Amino acid sequence: MIARPTLHVVSMSGGKDSTATALVAIELHGRENCRFVFADTGNEHESTYAYALDYLPRALGITVDVVRADFADEFATKRANLARIAAGEPESAVYGRRKFQYHWTRELAARALEVLHPTGIPFLDLCMVRGGFPSRKRQFCTEYLKTEPLTEYALARIDEGHAVWSWQGVRIDESESRRSRLQGTGACVRAFEVVGGGLSIYRPILRWNVDNVFEAHALAGIEPNPLYLQGMTRVGCMPCINCSKAELAAIARRFPHHVARVAEWERIVSLVCRRDSPVSFFHRGTQGHAGQATTILDVVEWAKTTRGGRQYDLLADAAPATACASAYGLCE
Ligand code: SF4
Repeated sequence: MIARPTLHVVSMSGGKDSTATALVAIELHGRENCRFVFADTGNEHESTYAYALDYLPRALGITVDVVRADFADEFATKRANLARIAAGEPESAVYGRRKFQYHWTRELAARALEVLHPTGIPFLDLCMVRGGFPSRKRQFCTEYLKTEPLTEYALARIDEGHAVWSWQGVRIDESESRRSRLQGTGACVRAFEVVGGGLSIYRPILRWNVDNVFEAHALAGIEPNPLYLQGMTRVGCMPCINCSKAELAAIARRFPHHVARVAEWERIVSLVCRRDSPVSFFHRGTQGHAGQATTILDVVEWAKTTRGGRQYDLLADAAPATACASAYGLCE
C-alpha cells in the first residue's frame, strides 16, 4: 500500500498563537508541505483581516485560504416555517408541541420574513437562523463558524489523497478555562492525537508560555497583530462574546464603529427572533456582565464604570485612545 503524503494544515486566526504555530510548521516541514486556512466569522477587526490575509502571506511567502460558514439551508427551512405561520397555521402545527412555545404570531412571522435573508456575514447569519446570539453557556459560534468549516477544509484535503495533520495553536497556560478543558480528566494532555480516517491533531505550542510565543515572532522577524498594542489581550471576534469588562471598555474607546455594528446586528436579529428570546450580544448572567441591562450599548456604559457600577472610571476615560496599552509589554 502506498502511504499518503502528509499535508500540514495550520488554522490561522490572526492571533499570536496561530502565527507561532505557523512558524513552527514552516520551519519543520517547509511551505510546500503546509496549508494555511483562516475561518472568517465576519466579526473580525479590519486589522486582523489585513494581518492574516495580507501581511502574513507576504511576510511568510504563503497563501492563506479562507473558509466561511454558509447557512443557506437553514435560512430556507426557517423561512418555510415562518411562512406557514404568517399564512395562519398555529405555531404548534409548524414546530410541534414543545415545552417552550415561542409565541410566534402571524404579524411577527410576516415581519421576520421581511428581513430574514442571508447577508453573507457568517456571524450575523448564524444568529439570524438560530434566533439569538451565542453565550458563554451556549457558545455555538465556535462550532458553526470555526470548527465545522475548518474540519470540512481538512476532510477535503484528505479526499484529495493526503493524510492531514491539523495544527492547532492552543496553549495550556493561556487561560484557566482552557487549562481545565485540555486537562479535563487530569490525564496528561497530548500534543499529538490520531483522530482516524487520515486525520491527526498536532498542538506544537501546547506547553509554551506567552513569552515563547512572542520570542518566536521576533526570531522570525514577524510582527505580531497590531491589536496587541491597542489594549487587546486576544485576537478573535471584535468583540468576542467572552471579552472582559476592561477589554470591552477598550474596544468602545478605540473602535466605536464595531460597537455600532453589533448594535445594528442586535436590531436585525431582534426582528427575526422569537418574542422574549435574548437578542443581546452579551447575555444576562454571564461572568463579568452579571445583572446588567444587556444591549451592547448598555453593557458598554457599564464597562466604563468601576466595580459597583455607579461611578464612571474617569481614569479609563482619560486614557488617550492612541496610547500603547499592550497587556504583553511588547513596547518594552
Ligand atoms: S472569538 Fe468569541 S465570539 Fe468569536 S467565535 Fe470564538 S467564542 Fe465566538
